[in-house]
Amino acid sequence: MPRPVDVPSLVAAAREGTARAVARLISLVEDEHPALPEIVAALAPHVGGAHVVGLTGAPGVGKSTTTSALVSVLRAAGRRVAVLAVDPSSPFSGGALLGDRIRMSEHAGDDGVFIRSMASRGHLGGLSATAPSAIRVLDAAGFDVVLLETVGVGQSEVEVARLADTSVVVLAPGMGDGIQAAKAGILEIGEVFVVNKSDRAGADDTVRDLRRMVSLGDRTEPHLWRPPVVRAVALDGTGMDEIVGAVDAHLAWSREHGGLEARRRRRTVDEIEALALAGLRRRFAGDAGEDRLDALAQEVLDGGLDPFAAADRLLEQAGLSSSRS
Ligand code: GDP
Repeated sequence: MPRPVDVPSLVAAAREGTARAVARLISLVEDEHPALPEIVAALAPHVGGAHVVGLTGAPGVGKSTTTSALVSVLRAAGRRVAVLAVDPSSPFSGGALLGDRIRMSEHAGDDGVFIRSMASRGHLGGLSATAPSAIRVLDAAGFDVVLLETVGVGQSEVEVARLADTSVVVLAPGMGDGIQAAKAGILEIGEVFVVNKSDRAGADDTVRDLRRMVSLGDRTEPHLWRPPVVRAVALDGTGMDEIVGAVDAHLAWSREHGGLEARRRRRTVDEIEALALAGLRRRFAGDAGEDRLDALAQEVLDGGLDPFAAADRLLEQAGLSSSRS
């Protein structure tokens, strides 16, 4: 049995800015602790103030370096910043991965900064069910900006980008140039593009390609956001002020044109759906957690059942009416 949790005290401590309380709450989220619904309910009156900024891009383009440099710029402006590094493709976390420790040291002793890695330990909902709750924790804890950095690659990046109010796509000359970004579907999710490692050859080409691509779609729609392409050298902080400026501008634009509300609504739809599906999967597994699906699959393979009948049986076993009734 999981240890009981004093939710009101923990939430109060997190709201006072106690890092330990924030960390504990995120662990409870990761573990899908039975107190999670109570935690989320206690956080509810205090959320909505944070600007959630997603950072995606292929490994090696400099996301971590950029994140850390952005934290410095935001802190210099007096803003409290949380970094949530999520790896949708990995079930492992531990709260302080190697990269965290390195970054921690840079911002050590600054209680306006909170850095944390998160993976999905629970098998039911995955990150799409748990990451929104973690964001709620950080939001309620009063962080002005939550930087959501993806560690994994592929389609899951797009999923994580959907959790953000503003998505920043980081590229580097040569390796992740515009064409490749378009192929990876990354052009659609970017509201701010960063060409990092601009100290390297080829940066001009990447910037030009990207600018051309992002301007293709918006000739007929005057109110469309035109994603800026920012040149950066995260290693020495070049371009970081511009990135913060672009991200802030996107938030203001998004508020003005209703995009923010629509986006948060869509995010909430995703969250509700993920939680409901997690509940459904739990019911499929039954109280004893037995693998009903596996048993049914075997029956289908053995020819005793067709997949439709098996699906009906699963719904019945879960106490739900058949999909065809
Ligand atoms: P991530 O995998 O996207 O998080 O990339 P990292 O932030 O770990 O950076 C990958 C490598 O690129 C590291 O060796 C960084 O020091 C280096 N790097 C990051 N930013 C820059 C930059 O602006 N210029 C150059 N030349 N190297 C950079």
